Amino acid sequence: MKNNNKKWVNYCLAASAFFLLVGFGSVSAQPSTENINGVPVDMAMEEQLDDYLNSLGEEEDSRAILFNVLEGISPKTPVATRARAKSYEVSWYYYEGETELAFEKLDELLALAENSEISDVKAEAQATRVEILQMEGKYGEAFLLLNDVEIPLSSSRMPRVRYYGHNLISRVYADWNRYDDALRHLLLAQDAVNETNNERTPIRQQYLDYSIAIIQSELKNWEGSLKTIDKAIKSAKENNLEYDLPDFYLHKSYVEAGMGDRDASLDSLRAAYDVAIEDDRIYLLPVILNNFGDHYMYEEKWDEARSHLREALELAEEVEDIWMAQTIHFNLGFIDVHQGNAEAGFEEMREAVEFYRDEEIKTEVEGLLGELALAYEFAGQHQNQAETLKQQMELMKELYQSDQQQNLANLQQLYESKDKEQQIELLERQNELKQQLLEINEQRNLIWLLLGIVAVFAALFVFLMYRKARRANLRLKEANNLLADQSRRDPLTGLWNRRALQEEMEARKQHGERREAAAHSDGLILLDIDFFKRINDKYGHAAGDKVLIEISQRLQKECRASDKLIRWGGEEFLFLVRNVSSADLEEMSERILKAIAKEPIAYEGQEIFVTTTIGFIRLPFADIPEHEMDWEKVLQVADMALYTGKAHGRNRACGVTDLYVEYGTARSVLESDLSEALNKNWISMVTIEGPESLNRTV
Ligand code: GH3
Ligand code: MG
Ligand code: MG
Repeated sequence: MKNNNKKWVNYCLAASAFFLLVGFGSVSAQPSTENINGVPVDMAMEEQLDDYLNSLGEEEDSRAILFNVLEGISPKTPVATRARAKSYEVSWYYYEGETELAFEKLDELLALAENSEISDVKAEAQATRVEILQMEGKYGEAFLLLNDVEIPLSSSRMPRVRYYGHNLISRVYADWNRYDDALRHLLLAQDAVNETNNERTPIRQQYLDYSIAIIQSELKNWEGSLKTIDKAIKSAKENNLEYDLPDFYLHKSYVEAGMGDRDASLDSLRAAYDVAIEDDRIYLLPVILNNFGDHYMYEEKWDEARSHLREALELAEEVEDIWMAQTIHFNLGFIDVHQGNAEAGFEEMREAVEFYRDEEIKTEVEGLLGELALAYEFAGQHQNQAETLKQQMELMKELYQSDQQQNLANLQQLYESKDKEQQIELLERQNELKQQLLEINEQRNLIWLLLGIVAVFAALFVFLMYRKARRANLRLKEANNLLADQSRRDPLTGLWNRRALQEEMEARKQHGERREAAAHSDGLILLDIDFFKRINDKYGHAAGDKVLIEISQRLQKECRASDKLIRWGGEEFLFLVRNVSSADLEEMSERILKAIAKEPIAYEGQEIFVTTTIGFIRLPFADIPEHEMDWEKVLQVADMALYTGKAHGRNRACGVTDLYVEYGTARSVLESDLSEALNKNWISMVTIEGPESLNRTV
C-alpha cells in the first residue's frame, strides 16, 4: 500500500515559490497613488506588474506583460518599482533556464539596491538573491544570506515586500528543518497581509494558513495543523474561493491519518474528491482515489481498495499522469499478492519499481522496495524478500549518503563562511600579535636606546676615569718629576744643584760628541759672594738666606733658557752658558757683577749691599779636547781666576782667555797655581771691574 499524502506535502512546498509570486498580485486593487506607505512607486507600472503575476497561472502572455514594463523603465522610474520589475526579470530568466542571464540581472538588481537607501528595495533584491540560490540548490549559502534579507525587511514599509520576504525566509528555514523559525516568519508574512484589505486578501490568507498548516504538521503539531487547515477550508468556502480546497482537504486527510483518525481522514478524502469533481479538477482525482485505495488496503478491505485503485488508474491514464499510474499499479499488484495471485502481483509491483528506477526517483524506489519486501514476506518468498531488503538497504545507504553529502556540502558552506569569520578572527589575532611585536620591538628599541645611553655614559665614565687616572698619572709623573727635580734642586734657592750639573755634563758629553764643529763653545761663570760671612754676622743667618734667595733671582734674570744656573756651594753660584763667544761671556760676567752690586737687598727695613767676585772661562778651554781637559779641570782654572779676583780686591770678574803653550806643558801649573802661569805668560787673563758700590758692607 503506497500512501501519497507525504508526496503531496513535498509537492506543495515545492510549489510555494509559485504561490509566493501569485499570492500578492493585488496591489492593483488599491487606489492609484504615487507612493505606498511613503515609498515612491510608479503606480501604473505596479499595476502592470500585478497583472503579470496574475497572468502566470493563466494562459496569458506573461512575458509580453513583464517586458512591456521593463521596456518602459526610465531613470525617472522610482527605484522601488524598478527593483520589483528587475526582481521579476531575474526570476523570469531563471525559470526560462537562462541562468547566466538571470545572475547578470541579479547583479544589476543588487547594485541598484546597494545605491538605494530604501529598505524595501534592499530587502527585495536580497530576497531575490536568496530565492535564486535556493533554487540553485545552494542551501547553505542561501541560509547564510538570510540576515541580509531579514535586516532590511525589519524596516521595510511595503506589505508586498514583507509578504514576499517573510515567505521566502520561512521556506529557507523549512528546508533546514527549522520549522519554528519558518512558522515565525509565516506569521510575520500574515501581519503584512493583514495590513491590506481587499478582495485578494482572503486568498492570500488562505495560502498562508495552508503553509502554516504544513509547517505545523512537520512539527507533528497535528492539532494545530488541523485547526489551521480547517480555518483555511472555512475561509475558502465562505469566500467562494474553492480553487485550493481539494489541496486543503488532502492535507487535512493527511493530518487526520497522522492523528490516527482514519474515519475522519476518509471523510476529508471524500470531501477532497467531491470538490475536485465539482470543480472539474480531474487531475487531482488519481491522487485522491489512490489514497482511498491506500486506506482500504490498510484495513485489508482488498476489494474496495481494488475498485478505488482501478478508478484511479483509469483517471491517471486519462490525464496522462504516468507516475501516479505506476504507483497505482504497484498498489494493485500488492492486492493481487494478498489475494493469491502472487506471480502477476509481483510482476506488476516489480514493473513499477523498475519504472521509478528508470526515472531515477530513488526515494520512491526505496519506499516501493520496502512494500515489495513485505509482499514477499506475506507470500513466504523469503529469498526474494531478503534480496529486496538488501536492495532497499543499499539504496537507503546511497540515499542516506547523498543526503549526508548534501548535508555535508551545506555544512561545508557554513564552515567555509565560518572559516572566513575565523580567518578574520585569526587576522585580528595576527594583527594583535603584530601590534604586540611592534610594542616589543619598541620596547626592544627603547632597551637598546637605554643600553646605548648607558653605554655612552659608561664610555663617558670610563673616559672620565681614564682621564682622571691619566691626570693622576700625570700628577704622579709630575710629582715624580718634581721629586726627581727636587733631588736636583737646591732647597733654599730653587736653583739646580751640583748633582744636576753632573747629569747635565754627562748629557752634554754624549751630545758634544755629535757636534764637533760647533761655532761656539760653552762658557763657565763661577761666582762667590764677597764677605758673606760678615752678612751673616751682621744681619743674621736668615738675612743671609734672604740675600742668597734674592741673588739667585737676580742671577736667573741674566740666564737664557739654554743656560743652566747652579748653586755650587754655600754662597757660590755657577753658570753653564751654552754656545757663547768670548766677548759675550765677558759681557755676561759684567752684567752679573752689575746685577748683584747695583741695588742693595732690602731686609727688614735695612739695605744690604752685596758684591760678588767672578772667575770665568770657556769650555773647552783653548780648544783643548775635553777628554784631555774636562769640565772639572776647566772649572778649577775658573775657580783660580775667581780667587785671583778676590785677591785683587773683589767685586770683579777675572776670565782666563788664552793658552800660549801646549796644554801638556801648562797642565800641572794650571791645575795648581794660576798666578805662576800668568807670570810665565802661558795664559792671558781678562779682568772686569764691578760697579762702584755705594755702601760697602765691609
Ligand atoms: P770672601 O768669600 O769674600 O773671602 O769672604 P766670605 O765671608 O764670603 O768667606 P767664605 O766664602 O769663606 O765664607 C762663606 C760663608 O758663607 C761661610 C758660611 O757661614 C756662609 N754660608 C755658607 N752657606 C750659607 C747658607 O746657606 N746660609 C747662610 N746664611 N750662610 C752661609
Ligand atoms: Mg765662599
Ligand atoms: Mg765668599
